Order: sequence, then C-alpha cells, then structure tokens
Amino acid sequence: MVRRDDIISSIEGLAPLEGAEQWDNCGVHVRGAEEVRRLSVLLDPTLRGIKAAKGEFILSHHPLFFSPIKFLSDDTREKVRELITRNQTFYAAHTSLDFAPEGVSWALARRLSLSEDADSTPRLRTGTVPCETLDEFIATIGTALGADAIRVVGDGGLPGRVGLIPGSGFHEDVIAECRARGISVLVSGDLKHHAALAAADMGVTLIDAGHRETEMPGIELVAQQLHALHTSLAIDVVEPARPWHYRFHVD
Ligand SMILES: [Zn+2]
Repeated sequence: MVRRDDIISSIEGLAPLEGAEQWDNCGVHVRGAEEVRRLSVLLDPTLRGIKAAKGEFILSHHPLFFSPIKFLSDDTREKVRELITRNQTFYAAHTSLDFAPEGVSWALARRLSLSEDADSTPRLRTGTVPCETLDEFIATIGTALGADAIRVVGDGGLPGRVGLIPGSGFHEDVIAECRARGISVLVSGDLKHHAALAAADMGVTLIDAGHRETEMPGIELVAQQLHALHTSLAIDVVEPARPWHYRFHVD
C-alpha cells in the first residue's frame, strides 16, 4: 500500500510540472482514495481505457480535460462517473512526461538507438542511428516499435542526422527547423497532407511510425520507473486500442 500523495510526488519527480507546455493540463484531474494498492498506466483516457484501469490510481499520458469545462459532455460525464464510483485518482502526465529528462522522447531515442548530438533537446532529440540505409532504419523502427505500417515521405537522408519527436510532431515549423539544422530524417506520428507536401519541398524525409507506437516506449518506461520507486505497488499498463486498421483494395 502506498499513499496517493507519495505517488504524485514520485511522478512529479520524474516528470516535473514546470516542464509542461502552457496550453497543456498536467496534474491531478480527479482525486480519489488516499491509499493505493494498484497503479494503472494509460496512454489514452478513452472510456474503454478507464474501465480497464482497475487501480486506485490512474496515470494517463493524454489528459481527460484540456480547456476549462463549461459543459460536461455525455462521454466525459461517463468517464468521470466511472472514476468517482471506483474512488480512483486520475493524473495526467502529458508534456511534463514528454520532455522529462528520461521521459517519452528519451525512451523513443533509446528504443531506436539514437546517439544524441550535443544540441539534442527533449523537444527534438537529434543524432545518428546505426543504420546504413533508409530501408534498414524503417525495418528497425517497425521491429522496435511494433509499427505494422509506416508512412514515408521522401526516400533519402541516411546516413545522416535523424530527429525524433514522439506523438504528433510533424509541424511545418519543425520540418523547417530540421532542414535548417541539417537533419535529413524526422520520425514522429500523425502525419497530415500539408506537412507531407512541405517536407517534400524542403527535402526532409518523414517517417510516420504512429502516435501510439512512438509514445508507448515512454509509457512502459514510466511504469518501470514507478515500480522501482514503489516496489510494493502493483502496476499494470493498459494496452491502448489501435484506433484504426489498414485495408487494401486492389482492382
Ligand atoms: Zn500523444
């Protein structure tokens, strides 16, 4: 049994709230039982995910609420009802964990064997990978992250400098920064049409390995870190849903 507030202190030791973005909502969303036997770690606070999280304390990567609430939608109401009925604490460690010294971007860099440059930062980890070709790097990503389909823009860039951003990092300003800093390959998730076209024009190769796939190494890592700090605490990682699957049509 571990005190709720000790778990919060441990999370904030690993992922300080000062590291979070201004627009984000990291911290306690719902306060529950003071004594915790089980901690459930979630990527996405979907209703299915919350129902599957049996611990008295839920640590979620994505927040339940982003902006001040004026109206409780049916979906949010149902999630909050679940939490209150089961007296669960809900804590979101989003950008606080993304940019933590050993957080989500660090875990992705380790998983892909990135040798980081001196100017690598938690927001854009940069460096080199032990791959000779783009095909070899894509195969490595597929195996290391369990990514079953990887979208690629461009066909060059290796050997060269690689940038990594977990989640949804393909913004045109980030792609422009990569070009300016001589980073030829950027790995992230959630690629959109206009960002892909901009990258093609700028000559930066993009690898979309998936939002979920690029963030799960960090989610699994924080569960291990908390287990090391609280060995008496049972910890489970709720397997996130794959939000879509691929179907191919051939004429
Ligand atoms: Zn995310």
